[in-house]
Amino acid sequence: MPLPAYRGRFAPSPTGPLHAGSLLAALGSWLLARQAGGEWLLRIEDVDPPREIADAADRQRAALAAFGLHHDGPVVYQSRRGRMYQEALDRLLANELAFECYCSRSDLIASGGIHRYCVAGAQRPDPAIRLRVSDGCEIGFDDLVHGHVVQRVDAEVGDFVLRRADGLWAYQLAVVVDDAAQGITDVVRGADLLDSTPRQILLQRALDLPTPGYAHLPLLLDTDGRKLSKSSASMPVDPADPLPGLRACWSSLGQSALPASIESPADFLTAATEAFRIDRVPRSALPASAAAHNTDATSRR
Ligand code: GLU
Repeated sequence: MPLPAYRGRFAPSPTGPLHAGSLLAALGSWLLARQAGGEWLLRIEDVDPPREIADAADRQRAALAAFGLHHDGPVVYQSRRGRMYQEALDRLLANELAFECYCSRSDLIASGGIHRYCVAGAQRPDPAIRLRVSDGCEIGFDDLVHGHVVQRVDAEVGDFVLRRADGLWAYQLAVVVDDAAQGITDVVRGADLLDSTPRQILLQRALDLPTPGYAHLPLLLDTDGRKLSKSSASMPVDPADPLPGLRACWSSLGQSALPASIESPADFLTAATEAFRIDRVPRSALPASAAAHNTDATSRR
């Protein structure tokens, strides 16, 4: 069967309940996939057990369903894909594109946390594995929301970790392997990951994998002006009452209000799929409370 021309995904880490910021990313990526007549996959990024909360993945899945954001195909769990990450790592090591590193965080303080060469004195039994980033390495890409983005990966990031010293897989490796294995054509996610994208493109090139299209959606800020994080209790969305959350995210995506007469998530999403305009999506983060306030004003009439 030919692959669909568009395949998007939502890839939450199970570190807490779905909050307004992750609902916004889920909604934006779902809308672009549906608008393109494509598929939308769900991947649970559970590669960091210390940060996980026991039933978070199940609750996130239930919340997405309550918001009408149904996914295609089986749910993929990164915790079951270690063999694929190991294969990719072995390939990078064999091609001398990755190396064992004994440097600790404190070893790298003098260089601002950026690794360019190993400074660790003693070898331990538990090296991290890093991707070697060549001097002058500059990666640019076109983002649907942010336009052309360029990063000097050597100077801004340095040689980055693929497998941590504690043996856990780094997000950057797992996400690149999985996006390619799942045939993802378009990555739509929060702007907190904008500066990870050049690292992921570099890894795709090192592993001979295709580079998908990218769109990074605005973050929501809590009342103190900080990014809402999945582990933050602030602004959880209520799956028992999905419409206000959908309307708030829709407004934060810069879209014009949909009719207040819409009463079900399914009808809301049908109208939203027709009306969504990526060129209206703002670049910068928005206070979540302002978004909720706008929505109240438009839906109350
Ligand atoms: N698991 C990441 C998160 O929840 C998202 C990864 C991605 O979309 O690339 O922040």
